[in-house]
Amino acid sequence: MTHFDASKELLEFIVDRVTIGVFILNKNHEIMLWNSFMASNTGKSAEEAVGQNLFQCFPDLPERWFARKVNSVFMLKNFAFTSWEQRTYLFPFRHNRPVTGGMDYMCQDITLMPIKDADGEVENVCVLLFDSTDTAIYRTMHQAAMQKLEVASRVDGLTQLFNRAHWQSRLVEEFSRACRYKHPLSLLLFDLDHFKAINDKYGHLGGDAVLVRVAELVRDSLRDSDVAGRYGGEEFGIILPDTDAGGAMVVAERLRQSIETSPVPFEDTHIHISASIGVVEFFLDLRDAEEMIAKADDALYKAKEGGRNRVVRSS
Ligand code: GH3
Ligand code: MG
Ligand code: MG
Repeated sequence: MTHFDASKELLEFIVDRVTIGVFILNKNHEIMLWNSFMASNTGKSAEEAVGQNLFQCFPDLPERWFARKVNSVFMLKNFAFTSWEQRTYLFPFRHNRPVTGGMDYMCQDITLMPIKDADGEVENVCVLLFDSTDTAIYRTMHQAAMQKLEVASRVDGLTQLFNRAHWQSRLVEEFSRACRYKHPLSLLLFDLDHFKAINDKYGHLGGDAVLVRVAELVRDSLRDSDVAGRYGGEEFGIILPDTDAGGAMVVAERLRQSIETSPVPFEDTHIHISASIGVVEFFLDLRDAEEMIAKADDALYKAKEGGRNRVVRSS
């Protein structure tokens, strides 16, 4: 056996055992080499594939895209790469991961290498196909987890409304927008009436059921641009961008009525509830969002003093 034969055998041995797809194409896109990875994943043996035109052999391949890649290597005589992030796969190979992260097919990174003759012309193109499914699944799951964390940091777990910190930061944003563009802006602050008594009578679970239901009523009565948050235990805030006091009073009264007329089913009974609401409209003399909240809180206090289950507008 010559030295060349030995290395050729060794190369064939390696090419057939790597867990990478390896195939070689000539200028006519005919298959010159087809390793075991390609054979076992496509179901076409090297005997069947070699000598065939790749795209006739596999009519479902994205021919326009992949032929252009291959032809560019023949012309430019350079390596080329494609990533699963640009195009998920070339061949629709099934993967056998138990956790898929929504991935049905093997994600593939592809390297195209020019194989040159003695004159430096590209005779063939060797294609390496790497299985990047693990990276893709990890990346997708990581992104989903980050997204969940991001949402969790903004949302109150019980009511699914924004939590106080996020709601307040949104108010600061809306406040500066209103200052800059002289747009109207209103704020509602409301607090459930006699909530301690509800907790005493129905227990903490009853109280929590009320809070969940009230959050639903809030969501149902708002526009997409409105921003509702749980401000405290049973205190809620609603930011109404582009809404003057007249509009805010309508929203507040509608919400008050909907809370009053929506007894909350709990165990084998219904819990009757009501809320007191303070309303304030943005005006240029307000120093900051904090002062706007303070004014709404004053109005809310007046609503409580006035007998509860009512709306009071800040004067
Ligand atoms: P008022 O009409 O004056 O508002 O009377 P109130 O009893 O509602 O008084 P207040 O607003 O001061 O009481 C708030 C109570 O809400 C205190 C606390 O026991 C209860 N609370 C706060 N957070 C939660 C919660 O997450 N779940 C439950 N079940 N109760 C809560
Ligand atoms: Mg209360
Ligand atoms: Mg309270």
